[in-house]
Amino acid sequence: MDSALAPLSEKIQALRINGPRLWDSLMELAQIGATPKGGVCRLTLTDLDKQGRDLVTRWATEAGMTVTIDKIGNGFMRRPGRNNSLPPIMTGSHIDTQPTGGKFDGNYGVLAGIEVVRTLNDHGIETEAPIEVAFWTNEEGSRFVPVMMGSGVFAKAFTLEHAYAATDTEGKSVKGELERIGYVGEQEPGDHPIGAYFETHIEQGPVLEDNDITIGVVQGVLGIRWFDCTVTGMEAHAGPTPMALRKDAMLAATHIMQDVVAAAHRHPPHGRGTVGMVQVFPNSRNVIPGRVKFSIDLRNSTDALVDQMVEEVKALAVTVAKEHGVDVKIEMVSSYNAIAFHDNCVDAVARAAKSLGYSNMPVVSGAGHDAVYMAKLTSSGMIFIPCKDGISHNEIEDAKPEHITAGCNVLLHAMLERAGVV
Ligand SMILES: [Zn+2]
Repeated sequence: MDSALAPLSEKIQALRINGPRLWDSLMELAQIGATPKGGVCRLTLTDLDKQGRDLVTRWATEAGMTVTIDKIGNGFMRRPGRNNSLPPIMTGSHIDTQPTGGKFDGNYGVLAGIEVVRTLNDHGIETEAPIEVAFWTNEEGSRFVPVMMGSGVFAKAFTLEHAYAATDTEGKSVKGELERIGYVGEQEPGDHPIGAYFETHIEQGPVLEDNDITIGVVQGVLGIRWFDCTVTGMEAHAGPTPMALRKDAMLAATHIMQDVVAAAHRHPPHGRGTVGMVQVFPNSRNVIPGRVKFSIDLRNSTDALVDQMVEEVKALAVTVAKEHGVDVKIEMVSSYNAIAFHDNCVDAVARAAKSLGYSNMPVVSGAGHDAVYMAKLTSSGMIFIPCKDGISHNEIEDAKPEHITAGCNVLLHAMLERAGVV
């Protein structure tokens, strides 16, 4: 029988992480770059990021783990198993933050991993496969683009050279900043087998809180399509031009904007449609707008669904162009495929939540995470916990200690199921 799939023994079933210890570590890490409003500003590859990395790797070393850094500065903190020829069961996230970030985004996923190891140490429990905790470089993408840089290089979504060459607004490069803080490791990114990957994260949305549910069993990540839409009509004086003789770009644009939102409503429950940016030309009170440029953001749980939404909006745009005598151009800006997490990891999370007695529901992630890239390489899954009012990327981001504890307990049990215990 495959030991990795054996049911957990009674002793293991009773195992729980130390919630207050995890909370204290979160609060201590949040001191590095703490903002007056209670958030954290710890941008990637700054002196503060180095301090955060140093603290986390010190905690890992104190927990008996070995630390490996790769060439893009990703950190892998390893607790050996009984059979070290097996690929490690990995968890992780990121410790960089947004400029006005919170204490939990990313940090929770890394420190939950360390708490899992501390708990195994407390109880003298060996796993069959090794356990690893990763922190990925520059997940946030606020100082350097692209986002999810470390995990993206690791998964070969783009090259190390491409990532190294990225510069911030002051012209400083990723390579230079990695060297400056001493986090260019020896290992080739990706040269590191993984048996399975779990990531624990605050939901960053309102669904769990709204449903009063403790654990979100994440099924996947929404596919995303971004477009720029330009509607061109004819500028004319707002007074002398009768309604029937106008080519009002704004009026035409609003019909398309409405349909971006309507397309999401036509494809529930995971359809999302957003127009977040609008430019009106010439943007003058008494001129009929001649040109309107706006963004379109469409998302859904499968690529087929999101592509269907795109087709519907494009078809409507053709009709609008005809009816209003305007020209409509819709150009793709970027596209991210939907990710379905792997059944064996999703099921492990669901089983753990159920056996621990936590309320749980299937959810999807509307935001990108390092787990998206890991899902290209290995069986992957995510665990969500509620955050206050669904708010993240904000200094007021908050989560309840009991939810922090619950998510980490689910991580512990899901990882043990995959790693195998004796
Ligand atoms: Zn995050």
